Amino acid sequence: MRTLLLLILAFIFFETPTIEKDKDRWKPYYSDVSPAKVANKWFLPFDVADRKKVSNIKIISIFGDHRDSYVKGHIHTAIDINPAKPKAALIAVYAMANGVVCSVHLGENQRTVIVKHTLQNGKTMFTTYKHLKEVYVSNGQQVEPNTKLARLFTKAESKKYGGDYHHLHLEIRKKFDDYGCASWLTFNNAQLNERFYNPQLFIKENVK
Ligand SMILES: [Zn+2]
Repeated sequence: MRTLLLLILAFIFFETPTIEKDKDRWKPYYSDVSPAKVANKWFLPFDVADRKKVSNIKIISIFGDHRDSYVKGHIHTAIDINPAKPKAALIAVYAMANGVVCSVHLGENQRTVIVKHTLQNGKTMFTTYKHLKEVYVSNGQQVEPNTKLARLFTKAESKKYGGDYHHLHLEIRKKFDDYGCASWLTFNNAQLNERFYNPQLFIKENVK
């Protein structure tokens, strides 16, 4: 009897989390809002000399990389980037295109902003900006490529959290039905392709 009880408790507490089981936790941070303007022009998310020139960003980690942080064994749903030549000590993050802020979730070193975009063909997609030290926008706020969303951690601030957080984790999303948790609960390529575009390819095709 006792063994059975322990087994049940172990199952409840140590069961691998899934997107389906976790997403309701993040739904309260989501607002069902619509972009006022079509996302017709795309830019790099930093204040660099030319926001159309891909070589102005430095890629630290690629899409699809294996991750042992946060939830062990998940797949990297983003690219981790920094400006190649930062203009200032505090690095600001800008919206990549016209859209509306639909979620601000998580705290501390994982703080995240999601922008919902309507494309010229009428389709909806999302951009995710994660590891933000300070956030300057809120849900329902319409944004443009010149809207400052947030700023990144400095190297010194990142150190306080015992990790490497002084970069932008940038996702280009097909959907947001997971309300954000797919960012750390994506474990296979089917799940990866269901919700995420490869940001490097997206930038190559759209930021020009
Ligand atoms: Zn990342």
